[in-house]
Amino acid sequence: MAAIQNVAVIGCGTMGNGIAQVMAVNGKQVTAVDLNEDALARALASIEKSLGRMAKKGKLDEGEIPTIMGRIKTSTSLEDTANADLVVEAAAEDEGIKARIFADLDRITPEHTILSSNTSSISITRLGAATSRPDRVIGMHFMNPVPVMKLVEVIRGLDTSDATTDAVNALSADLGKTAVPANDFPGFVSNRILMPMINEAVFCLMEGVASRESIDDIMKLGMAHPMGPLALADLVGLDICLDIMEVLHGQLGDSKYRPCPLLRKMVAAGHLGRKTGRGFYDYEAA
Ligand code: NAD
Repeated sequence: MAAIQNVAVIGCGTMGNGIAQVMAVNGKQVTAVDLNEDALARALASIEKSLGRMAKKGKLDEGEIPTIMGRIKTSTSLEDTANADLVVEAAAEDEGIKARIFADLDRITPEHTILSSNTSSISITRLGAATSRPDRVIGMHFMNPVPVMKLVEVIRGLDTSDATTDAVNALSADLGKTAVPANDFPGFVSNRILMPMINEAVFCLMEGVASRESIDDIMKLGMAHPMGPLALADLVGLDICLDIMEVLHGQLGDSKYRPCPLLRKMVAAGHLGRKTGRGFYDYEAA
């Protein structure tokens, strides 16, 4: 399989803009697609800010920033993915939305294009089945924040080929990441373990087991976690956490995965964490 040079990123929120950044820093030509211009403008601003921070820390030459930014084109149309060697889909965690995007990408992109999803929990096999090329559909699960975190959890669907897996593993190494394989089960490994822990932390808060600060401090100081689960939920996005719990609960059918009512309430109120300025903590003043 030829080297991957042109990459399209679909959905430029928390994850998409980090993925676009890492691709562009590593010399890929990027087409960033989102439904609305505002999200794309925010993504470009956030990438430029993040590159500026890297330059200040000496991880990047300041002079390279315009070249890196010049590698990223934006679009509100999926049709602009027609020259992609690889697509990374990072749109909403909703199977209907993702399946429609995959069916469209299957029509628009050339035959060799690998269609990958950054999904946290949705079946790669079912996304593959929405296309005529399930052998070239794979999960490429980056972690948040993408420029910092080393892991790419690589998920093979039932029909994903060895060639596709090899190409995605090689690309991950190219990006300075470590690819680790997981099989196609709801939530894979990362979110099968992480999300029930976050959900349980929300139950602890709801039931008054401890304050939000105590819950986070106990997990940081006692378990050597770099962040407490409630602060981590705010970073991930409470809507994303709820979507993942719904997938685990629906697909695995065990009541231990039921989403905490307080998590549902926060999402219903629009308190989604850092991205809306308010979650378990307030970020407006930050
Ligand atoms: P987000 O809500 O921050 O961003 C999603 C973006 O997708 C939005 O800008 C939205 O406008 C866009 N979008 C929605 N439907 C679209 C469509 N049909 N076409 C094009 N763009 C569309 O979400 P996020 O946190 O970046 O999550 C994106 C994906 O990454 C989800 O599948 C999520 O489960 C996964 N993920 C999230 C995290 C995390 O920590 N937030 C970590 C790993 C994986």
